[in-house]
Amino acid sequence: MRFSFSTACLAGYPLPLVLWIAKKLGFDGVELFITPDVAATPVSIVRAVSRRLGVPVLSVHIPKYAPLPGWGSPHDMRLRTAGLAAAVQAPVVVLHGGYGARPGGTYDRAYRASVAACRDVLQGTTTRLSLENNDCHHVPQSDDVFRRGLEQLVAFAGECDLDVTLDTGHVGGPARRLDDAWAMLAPQVVNIHCNNSTGTHDHQRPEYGYLPLARFLSHLHRDQYAGLVTFETHPAVLRTWRPPNMMRALGQSLAFCRSAASAPSLL
Ligand SMILES: [Zn+2]
Repeated sequence: MRFSFSTACLAGYPLPLVLWIAKKLGFDGVELFITPDVAATPVSIVRAVSRRLGVPVLSVHIPKYAPLPGWGSPHDMRLRTAGLAAAVQAPVVVLHGGYGARPGGTYDRAYRASVAACRDVLQGTTTRLSLENNDCHHVPQSDDVFRRGLEQLVAFAGECDLDVTLDTGHVGGPARRLDDAWAMLAPQVVNIHCNNSTGTHDHQRPEYGYLPLARFLSHLHRDQYAGLVTFETHPAVLRTWRPPNMMRALGQSLAFCRSAASAPSLL
């Protein structure tokens, strides 16, 4: 497992400082979330800083807040995100959307064509596309609806040759669903967005919330998961306006996860 955090955790911090903090705290790399400031940073600078500090960009997350100046339509954003990931040699691209639409409908056909175009951009590279599970924690779902959503994700990812990014906080519902999600998605998962939840607020630190993430990480260890574990803790939770607090919190979360991920399974 390689541990990473999203640059969105430290929104407002200059990218070189974010990478320096990742190195200082012992992370294996970062997930580059494309915010307006990242979008405005020449890729040569991202690459140079990453190399100089020895902090790789392990994944690149599609912009979530459109419109992003110069990044165009959702399709254009996917293409540019794929191109950026290839340019910084990130192994994983994180995409949203896609699955659950009416098969053969306008959105379904457009999304599949968009994925195919991204794959053309990535040809000859080792960068792979992944699709993140939709955020279900705001919407109460029956067990049947929950399972159907994940079945659609498994099928869509399989048909489009996509890997999966599993956001633990997005799973929603009772904590036991996290085990169900892992059982269904494990063979396709390359990136875990390791977020806890209060039940009403997502993007909490991994060690605080109702999701048993220590147990979950020990299951990943049991199953010899070798992919990424990425924190997406909200900047307000990290209190990023107080850098010492933020550094301490990120360091504690990393220690918690590394320890849980090396523990025997707590089944
Ligand atoms: Zn996520």
